[in-house]
Amino acid sequence: MSELKFCQGPNCHTHMTQDRLKGQKGNKTYQTRRRSSMYYGTGNFCSMQCYNEWADVFIDRAIDHFGRLTEVKHLTEDNAWHKQYDWNSNDERLCVYVNQITKEQRPLTEAQYDDSNYTLNTGE
Ligand SMILES: [Zn+2]
Repeated sequence: MSELKFCQGPNCHTHMTQDRLKGQKGNKTYQTRRRSSMYYGTGNFCSMQCYNEWADVFIDRAIDHFGRLTEVKHLTEDNAWHKQYDWNSNDERLCVYVNQITKEQRPLTEAQYDDSNYTLNTGE
């Protein structure tokens, strides 16, 4: 059996659903959900409600910690490369890099497509 993860929602235990009611008969409490996998917030939250409640409490601190955007960003030819799949006339899947500004396409290997560090972008 895989290890259970705890929903990180600060108020998960306050949502009074039957599946959260746990414990011995006569001594049951509403508890934070535990699951082997969760779908929200990269697997940290049992629901969008719990995700949003976490964000309401912590998002300003998280943004300040990792760096708040303080000026506009610009999409230019230098940072407009975007990985995508394309299909050739034989219905074979091809990995391509497409420049969103110039529409230029360059072929990619499957390994380059999967490598999150591989990029043609030279700016942010
Ligand atoms: Zn939750």
